Amino acid sequence: MHSGESASVEAEIQGIPYAAIAEECGTPFFVYDAHVLSTTLRELRDVLPVGVDVLYSLKANPNISVCAVLHRAGAGAEVSSVAELTTALRAGVDPGDIVFLGPGKTCADLAACLEAGIHAVVCESFAELRLLDRIAAGHGGTAPVRALLRVNPAFPSKGSGLAMGGKPRQFGIDEEQVRACRPLLDTLRRVEVVGFHAYMGTRFLHHEDIVANTENILAMAESLAADLRIRLDTVDFGGGLGVAYFENEEDLDAGALEKGLTGPVTEFRERHPGCRLIMELGRYLTARAGTYVTRALYVKESSGESFVVADGGTHHHMAAVGIGSFVKRNFPVRHLGRPHALADRTYTVTGPLCTPNDTVVKRAALPEVVPGDLLGVERSGAYGPTASPGLFLSHGYPAEVLVHGGRAHLVRDRDTPEDLLARQHLVGLDPSAAG
Ligand SMILES: *Cc1c(COP(=O)(O)O)cnc(C)c1O
Repeated sequence: MHSGESASVEAEIQGIPYAAIAEECGTPFFVYDAHVLSTTLRELRDVLPVGVDVLYSLKANPNISVCAVLHRAGAGAEVSSVAELTTALRAGVDPGDIVFLGPGKTCADLAACLEAGIHAVVCESFAELRLLDRIAAGHGGTAPVRALLRVNPAFPSKGSGLAMGGKPRQFGIDEEQVRACRPLLDTLRRVEVVGFHAYMGTRFLHHEDIVANTENILAMAESLAADLRIRLDTVDFGGGLGVAYFENEEDLDAGALEKGLTGPVTEFRERHPGCRLIMELGRYLTARAGTYVTRALYVKESSGESFVVADGGTHHHMAAVGIGSFVKRNFPVRHLGRPHALADRTYTVTGPLCTPNDTVVKRAALPEVVPGDLLGVERSGAYGPTASPGLFLSHGYPAEVLVHGGRAHLVRDRDTPEDLLARQHLVGLDPSAAG
């Protein structure tokens, strides 16, 4: 506690109390700070070597207004479905700044890419490359259609929880198969393979790992291009930059990342002056801008442990709950009514679902919580509702709010029971039928 006075000051976002947003929109909800979104992107661009484009991976948070804010701050888009592609286009992203990837693209997906005229399709199998060529040949126009090959590198990635590379994967094409694909490239009528893509994993927090992975990918792209005798027009080296969520973690050292990347990227660019370098990032751009706000409904004791039962949980924020993780680790959580008060109590905060897994934080230090208090799970702008089982117990998608220019804007309506039921059809049961 800083002083008696500050203990009574409630938490705000751009001068707006969270409580005022809760009053307006109900709880639970996600709120995103547009200033944090833009600043995160601008600060990253400041440390990245000149000539590296940042594409926003909509997978992390597909809200169209979030995409629009990042677009205005200078990001393109990396999309993996027609809905994400449409979102990016409507958010104002130039088709020339969009790539489409994903291991299971349908004919409709590929046709939508051609229709939109995006920068490149990232092909994840040779069959997909041939299919794209067939569709492109039947599509109007004669301009070559750019494709990148997603490579499953022969080298393992460094330092990620979800490591890619060096093992069997459904993503991309094994490096040695790519190296031998010149005969296939010669059969393509309309599609031109102009570069490579590799994604080494997610949640990298050490700059050394990112630098090493980038160096490896650039060297691989260079050697593949030489073997296949193609001009390198684009290399998308993924990224996977993480943010610190847990107690023993620290955010990336941006200055060190700048120092590490500048040399290798600059040298690469000298050898390939026209080559576009792309970093595609989801979590890093949005995680810190988002807070999941949930209201305490009940506070109770069980076998000496204090539980806060709140109105939000797994169905909106599975990442914080940690389903699938071996050990439960707590996201940072704040008492939004008294953010500066001494955290002298210990609470397990659970959600409304009828499953013991629905635990938002376990034995977290907080000031006293009473029913009606608002709790904020911080760093929640990435992989929230989009990556959670929103239909579980038919709670549906939460409201989403963007604070921009000192004003709170509702950017997604909360699902209502009617919304959920509108997708279902009540069958007229035949009284004479047995089943
Ligand atoms: C998920 C994914 C991303 C975004 O990952 P972050 O860790 O959120 O930055 C980028 N590229 C590919 C291929 C992905 O699968």
